[in-house]
Amino acid sequence: MNKLLPLMFLFVAFGLSAQENYKTLHPVSEYKNPSLHKLADIQRPVRFSERPKNIILLIGDGMGLAHLYAGYTANKGTLNIFQMPFTGFSITYSQSSYITDSGAGATAIACGTKTFNGAIGVDANSKPVTSILERAEAKSLSTGLVSTSAITHATPASFIAHVSDRASYEDIALEFLKTDIDVVIGGGLDHFNKRADGRVLCDELKAKGYNMAYNMDDAMKLPAKKMVALTAPLHNGKVDERGNMLPMATEKAIDVLSKNKRGFFLMVEGSQIDWGAHQNDVEYVISETLDFDQAVGKALDFASKDKNTLVIVTADHETGGLAIVGGNIADGQVKASFNTTNHTAVMVPVFAYGPGAQLFTGVYQNTDIFTKMMELLMLSAVVPVK
Ligand SMILES: [Zn+2]
Repeated sequence: MNKLLPLMFLFVAFGLSAQENYKTLHPVSEYKNPSLHKLADIQRPVRFSERPKNIILLIGDGMGLAHLYAGYTANKGTLNIFQMPFTGFSITYSQSSYITDSGAGATAIACGTKTFNGAIGVDANSKPVTSILERAEAKSLSTGLVSTSAITHATPASFIAHVSDRASYEDIALEFLKTDIDVVIGGGLDHFNKRADGRVLCDELKAKGYNMAYNMDDAMKLPAKKMVALTAPLHNGKVDERGNMLPMATEKAIDVLSKNKRGFFLMVEGSQIDWGAHQNDVEYVISETLDFDQAVGKALDFASKDKNTLVIVTADHETGGLAIVGGNIADGQVKASFNTTNHTAVMVPVFAYGPGAQLFTGVYQNTDIFTKMMELLMLSAVVPVK
C-alpha cells in the first residue's frame, strides 16, 4: 500500500482541476483534541408529534463510522450525533460505479434516483429529477441549504440544480434563481458574480427579494426573511479560519425557516470531512467532524423544543478507508491509518431523532432516505421540474 501512495499522489495532484485541489495529499496520522464542545441537552423525555412538520437533514460528506468514532474519541467520549436514538445504514453505490462520488450520492438522497457519478439532480439518462427541496417548495414549505463548501458544490447543488456535470458551477448557480428557496448560506460567490456570461446573479437575487450578506457576521444580523449569504469567493476555509460558521449558519437557517407554520426542509452539509480524508489528514477529518457535530447540536436543540422536527444525520459515502489503529478516550487522542486517498464502497451510518425517526433503522439504499422523508412530509405527489 505504501508503495502505491506516491503514485496515487501524482494522480490526485495532476489529475484534477484547481477547483479540486483540496484533494492534494497531506498525511497526518495522529491527533489530540485541544478543546471539547458541549452537547445539546436532549436526554429528557420529549413527546413528539406523530408526523414531522419539519426535516433537518445534515450530511457529513465522506463521513464514515471511523470518522465519527475518531470525533467521539477526540471529544473524550461524547458526540451530539451519538445521542440520536435511531440508527441505520445506507448503501451508497451509484448507477455507474460501485464507489459513488458526491454528485450521485447526494442526488440519490435528494431525488431518490441512482445516477452516474458526476451527475447533479438528473437520472441515469441525464433527465432532470425533482428534488425533495423542490417538492417541499411546491407544497409551500420553506427550504434552505447550508454548506461549508461553495453552495454550488455537488452535495448542496443536488438539492436544487439539474446538470449532467458537477463542474458546471456557473450553470448550477443560475438554478438558485429558478427555485423559491428561502435560505442559502455557503461559499461560491464567484460562481454568482464572476461569470462567463457577465450576469451578476447577486443583483438578480436581490431584485427577487432576497436579503444578501457576504460574511457570517452580516448574515447573522439579517432579518428572519428570505436570505442568501455567500461567505467566500469559492469554498470557506477550514474550521480554524472560518470559525463556527457552520453551527451559526445552521442556527440562523432554522430561525428563518421556522417562521413558516406549514413547515420546512433544511439540508446542512459538513463538506470538508471528505477533504480531510482525501488528504489523509486525520486532524482535518476530526476538526471538521467536531464542527459538524456542533451544527447537529443546534438542530437537536431546536428539535427537542419544537417536537415537530425530524433530524437526520448521514453521509453520501465514506472517504479514505479510515481505520483507527490506536487512541485514548480519556486523553482525546486518536491514531489513524488511511487505506486510500479516495472514496470507498462501505455503507455509511444514518442517525435519526424526532417524529418518524424509527423509520431509519435497518440497512437500506441511499435512495430510501429520500423515500422515507417524502412519506413523512407527505410530498409523494409528483411535481414537475421547473
Ligand atoms: Zn470526496
